[in-house]
Amino acid sequence: MPELAEVELSRRIWEPALGERIRALKLHPQCRIFRGVDLPAMTEALVGSALHSTAARGKQMLFGFRPARRRAAEAWLGIHLGMAGSLLLEAGRDYAPAKHDHCVLQLERRALVFRDVRHFGRVRFHTGPTPPDWWTSLPPEVTAPEFTLAWVSEFLERRRRAPIKGVLLMQERFPGIGNWMADEILWRASLHPATPAGSLPAAARERLWAETRFVAAESIRQIDEHWDYPDSWLFPHRWKPGGHCPRCALELARATIGGRTTAWCERCQPRRRSRGR
Ligand SMILES: [Zn+2]
Repeated sequence: MPELAEVELSRRIWEPALGERIRALKLHPQCRIFRGVDLPAMTEALVGSALHSTAARGKQMLFGFRPARRRAAEAWLGIHLGMAGSLLLEAGRDYAPAKHDHCVLQLERRALVFRDVRHFGRVRFHTGPTPPDWWTSLPPEVTAPEFTLAWVSEFLERRRRAPIKGVLLMQERFPGIGNWMADEILWRASLHPATPAGSLPAAARERLWAETRFVAAESIRQIDEHWDYPDSWLFPHRWKPGGHCPRCALELARATIGGRTTAWCERCQPRRRSRGR
C-alpha cells in the first residue's frame, strides 16, 4: 500500500505540469474510483483550467485548478492511491489510456494519468475558492510542528489496550503511516509490536514519537534520492524470506498484529514484562 513517502513522490510526478492547461478528460466513468463524483460537472470545470497547486498530506493528495473563465470557481481534485494506484506524467498530444488508466487529464503535450490496477483508489472533486472540508479537516502530518509528544501520548492513552502496531496504523492520528513504516518505527524505538499502547513509559513514548517523525521525513528523502532504503533500515530486510535484523543479525519474527503482517526482532524488541524501565 502506498505510504507517506510514495504519496509525496506521486505528487511530485504531476508537479512539473504546474501552469499547464487541460484540453480534455479521458475517464472510465464506471470505475469505482469515481464513486460519488459528478463526472459531467467535473469535466465541465476541469477542461480549459490549469493546474495551479499540488499538495500531499498523509495518504491524500490535492490538486488545485484555475478556471479558464473568469468568475468560474476553482476546481479541486483529490486523489487517494488506494492499494496499488500510481500517478504518471506521460508524453503525447493525444495520450491513449492503458487499460487501468481510469483518470487521464490531457494537457497540450502530455497527460496527467492516474493508473489503478486494483480500483481501491479514489478520486474526489470539489469546486470553490477554498480546498474541500475533507482536506482542511485532515489531522496534522507527522512531520508538522503540531505533531507533538503530547499529541501522541494523549492518543496512546485513549487506545491504551490496543497493540502499539495497530495504533500506529490509525490514520486519524498517524496520517500516512502504513504497515512497513510502522514496523520500521517500532524496530527503531525498540518496542515489541504487541505492546499495549497505554503501557509505554514516558521514555518509550518519546522514542516512539521521535522515530515516527524521523522515519516519515527520512523515508521521503531516501526514496527521493535513491528510490530505495539503506541496508541499515529494517525495511529492505523485512521483505526477504528469512530476513534478518540489520542490527543484531537474528532472523526476524513474523506474525499478524493489529490486523497486519508484522516483522520484528525478538532480541532488539523484547516483549516487556513490567511497566518500569
Ligand atoms: Zn535485532
